[in-house]
Amino acid sequence: MKEKKVIVIGAGLVGSLCAIHLIKKGYSVQLFERRKDLRTQKITAGKSINLALSKRGWTSLEQANIHEYVKKIAIPMYRRVMHDSKGNLTFQQYGESDQAIFSVSRVELNLLMLNLAEKYGAEIHFNSKCVDVDFNNTKATFLQIDQEKTYGADFIVGADGTFSNVRAKMVEKLGHMYNYNKIEYDYKELLIPSGPNNSYLIEKEALHIWPRGNFMVIALANLDGSFTCTLFAAKHGKDSFENLNTEKETIHYFKKHFPDFTGLVPNLYEQWQANPTSELGIVKTFPWNKKNVLLIGDSAHATVPFYGQGMNAGFEDCRILSDVLDIYKENYEKCFNQFSIDRKPEGDGLQDLSLHNFIVMRDKTADPSFLLQKKIEQKFSKLHPEKWLPLYSMVSFSNVKYSTAWEVGKKQDQIMEKIMKLPQIEKKWDDDFVIDMILKEI
Ligand SMILES: Cc1cc2nc3c(=O)[nH]c(=O)nc-3n(C[C@H](O)[C@H](O)[C@H](O)COP(=O)(O)OP(=O)(O)OC[C@H]3O[C@@H](n4cnc5c(N)ncnc54)[C@H](O)[C@@H]3O)c2cc1C
Repeated sequence: MKEKKVIVIGAGLVGSLCAIHLIKKGYSVQLFERRKDLRTQKITAGKSINLALSKRGWTSLEQANIHEYVKKIAIPMYRRVMHDSKGNLTFQQYGESDQAIFSVSRVELNLLMLNLAEKYGAEIHFNSKCVDVDFNNTKATFLQIDQEKTYGADFIVGADGTFSNVRAKMVEKLGHMYNYNKIEYDYKELLIPSGPNNSYLIEKEALHIWPRGNFMVIALANLDGSFTCTLFAAKHGKDSFENLNTEKETIHYFKKHFPDFTGLVPNLYEQWQANPTSELGIVKTFPWNKKNVLLIGDSAHATVPFYGQGMNAGFEDCRILSDVLDIYKENYEKCFNQFSIDRKPEGDGLQDLSLHNFIVMRDKTADPSFLLQKKIEQKFSKLHPEKWLPLYSMVSFSNVKYSTAWEVGKKQDQIMEKIMKLPQIEKKWDDDFVIDMILKEI
């Protein structure tokens, strides 16, 4: 069989993993990236956003057989540690005692996957911005420094992120449905530096949250002892970004709401000024394909980051694409059509879950009744694992479809609402009748 040629547009996390999957299936892959080669730039450890990698991501990395490389740069996080406004801590285990999500630096992961893609045989073109797609002839045109060049392939994968040009061409030329919904919240990165000898100043193997109702800070560990932290807050109104302009306002806000955090960041205002405030949004588009061209990752279903699933969902796209290519062989048009129809509800489910988890993280993790509810669910799930997998576990520790997790999660919430209304549930939660009642409600 003649070697089939593929163009992957966007060498971010999803594009580079997709390239690896496809090369391992025997395709000849050209990977095009708008930016210059990350590997030629000096990257300071701890200066990049880090991401939570969970089961779906690992499943795809395992299928591509590169998981062992990724393990070396990943830090397990077994539980949430909540910091209240006085600096007191409470803890919430994510799943079973050996279950963890993993903190990885986005830049480190991208560097690793670019190196692996190249090692396995991808031809990578940097400084190549996709400016046009010819859907009828499976060709893409790139602006390379100051000249345009067109390349052809058997099929094209658009993995060019939230502001995808491949998608823009689908919308412009084919009238595909598209909208981008900005949410009313922004974020800013901050860094807790490492302690002496690269020690960790707070618990390393945990995801830290400072939940404050309508806003929050989170922190994930880096390999060098530092923590990358993110403040998520409203654009406008009380406790929002619009009121944090001067040094006095900013330091006052942090000391008031996050005193223990403030003590860990000596140059807080310097960082505040140096780091950008960025917006968050959700991409809805359909279909994700035309002829032999397909969208995956954020270009198809960018979401807000509150479930830590955007990259994981994109990695899942890569695995599923690899599987459906086996089914449809060289009928790429049919294959991509089916992929788009099957995966769109998963993109929607992912987005619903992500928005829902913002409320859980910023607000509910500070609520003792919510923490008790989760404890009861864990207990029930241990006794009847075939009847109940908690929502967080479905999303982060399984490959259950996002759409299924979302529907099952809503039903579980209805049941737990009744349980939490039982008189003196705080005292009686461990009694057998609670388990019996859940069994009856299922
Ligand atoms: C604050 C924050 C926290 C997050 N935390 C998590 C988390 O904990 N866990 C998780 O799973 N996800 C998380 N995410 C989501 C995750 O970052 C994204 O889902 C993931 O990066 C998507 O990968 P991608 O390759 O599809 O897109 P991108 O990472 O955006 O990569 C797209 C690539 O395409 C290139 N490109 C763009 N346009 C063109 C063009 N015209 N031509 C050629 N190349 C182009 C870009 O330069 C880039 O390299 C988070 C996101 C944010 C904003």
